[in-house]
Amino acid sequence: MEKLEEFDVIVVGAGAAGIGVGAVLTDLGLENFAILERHQIGESFRRWPQEMHFITPSFPSHGFGNLDLNAIVPKTSPAIAFRREHLTGEQYAQYLEKVADYFGFLVYTGVEVQKIEPLPQSKGFLVHVPDGILKSQFLIWAAGEFQYPNLTPFPGADLCLHNSQVQSWTHLSGDEFTIIGGYESGMDAAYNLVALNKQVKVLDRTGSWANPHVDPSISLSPYTLERAEFCYSTGRLDLIGDVAVEEVKTVSGGYAIYSEYNKWVSPTQPILCTGFEGSLKQIAHLFDWSEGYAGLTEEDESSITPGLFVVGPSVRHSNVIFCFIYKFRQRFAVVANAIAQRLGIDTTPLEIYRQEGMFLEDLSCCDNDCVC
Ligand SMILES: Cc1cc2nc3c(=O)[nH]c(=O)nc-3n(C[C@H](O)[C@H](O)[C@H](O)COP(=O)(O)OP(=O)(O)OC[C@H]3O[C@@H](n4cnc5c(N)ncnc54)[C@H](O)[C@@H]3O)c2cc1C
Repeated sequence: MEKLEEFDVIVVGAGAAGIGVGAVLTDLGLENFAILERHQIGESFRRWPQEMHFITPSFPSHGFGNLDLNAIVPKTSPAIAFRREHLTGEQYAQYLEKVADYFGFLVYTGVEVQKIEPLPQSKGFLVHVPDGILKSQFLIWAAGEFQYPNLTPFPGADLCLHNSQVQSWTHLSGDEFTIIGGYESGMDAAYNLVALNKQVKVLDRTGSWANPHVDPSISLSPYTLERAEFCYSTGRLDLIGDVAVEEVKTVSGGYAIYSEYNKWVSPTQPILCTGFEGSLKQIAHLFDWSEGYAGLTEEDESSITPGLFVVGPSVRHSNVIFCFIYKFRQRFAVVANAIAQRLGIDTTPLEIYRQEGMFLEDLSCCDNDCVC
C-alpha cells in the first residue's frame, strides 16, 4: 500500500461485522473502500477454544423469510454451509471467507491499524498502519471485543488464565478447576471441563444461571442453560452465586480466591471469564463515554467525531444491546445508508436489506417479551 492512498471508506477489522458491512457497501456499488485486518478474515473465531460452539443456533430458514440467526448477508445460511446447528469458530471463519469471496471485495490482511487521526473540520481520517498512512473520508470501526480481553478486573487476575487464551480445554492439566464469572464464556468453560470429567466450581457475581431476564444479552441462552443442566446432573459442577471476587493470590497448594467474606483454594490456575474490555477502548478519546458506553447517534456514528461509525457488538443505544450477530447485523445497512447519502450514492439497493429484516432503524420495537 502506498503512502496516503485515499479511500471513501476504511473498515477496521474483518470479523462478522467488518465483512457484513463490506457486503452492504459492495451492494451499494461503492468500490473505493478497504477492509484492513491485522491477522486474517475471521481471526477471532479461529482463536475460540477448539471445543467452543456458537450459542446462537443456525437453521436453514431463509427460504421462508427467516434469515439464519448467524448469517451476515441475505440468502446465506451457515447451517447449510456446514450442516450444523451450532458451528465452531473455525467453521464460522470459513463462512466469512466465503462471503468475502462471493462479494469480491478486497481485504488487506496482516495490516494492523495502529492509530486513527481525525482531520480538522471533519475532513476525514488519517489511518496509521505499519507501512505508512492512509486517508479515508469515513471510518467504520469493526475491531470487535474477543482480542481485547479485560485481564485486570481485580488484583491477582494476572495469576489466572483468561478464557480467550485457551486453545483447547484438553490442554489444561489437573482434575479440579475454579472459574471466575458464570455468564456465557464461564458456563461454556464449565461445560467443556465437566465433559472432560473434571470437577468444576463456578463463582459468579450475580448467579447468572438464575437470571430470568428475557434478553439473551443479559441472561444465559437456552443452549447454555440446557448444557448447564447436563453438567449439574453429573454432580461435577458447583455453582456459587453472589460472589464478587476481590483478589487472587498464590498459596501452598495452589491459588486462593478471595471475596469479602470467603476464600476458596483452587489447585489449578483459576479461569477468568469476567469479560472483555473491547477494541473501542483503543480509540476511546473519539467517543463520549458519559453514559458508561460509547455514545452514538441514531446512525451509529460517534456523537463527538463525525464520520466515525461503529458496527458490531459494542453498539449500544440506552438499554438496547447489540452483542449478538442477529442483532448487530441489522445495523450494517443503517451505517451504509448514512455514508451513501453523504457520498451521493443511490440507496435503492438497501431495500433488499429492509425486506430481509436487516435494516433496523426504529429501536422502539426491540422488546423480547413472550406473550405466553
Ligand atoms: C466468547 C464469545 C462467544 C460468542 N458467541 C456468540 C454467538 O454464539 N453468537 C453470536 O451471535 N455472537 C456471539 N458472540 C458475540 C461476538 O461478539 C460476535 O459473534 C462476533 O465475534 C463479533 O464480530 P466482530 O466482527 O465485531 O468482532 P471480531 O470477530 O472480533 O472481529 C474483529 C476483527 O478485527 C481485527 N482487528 C482487531 N483490531 C484490529 C486493528 N487494530 N487493526 C486491524 N484489525 C483489527 C481482528 O483480528 C478481528 O478479525 C460471542 C462473543 C464472545 C466473546
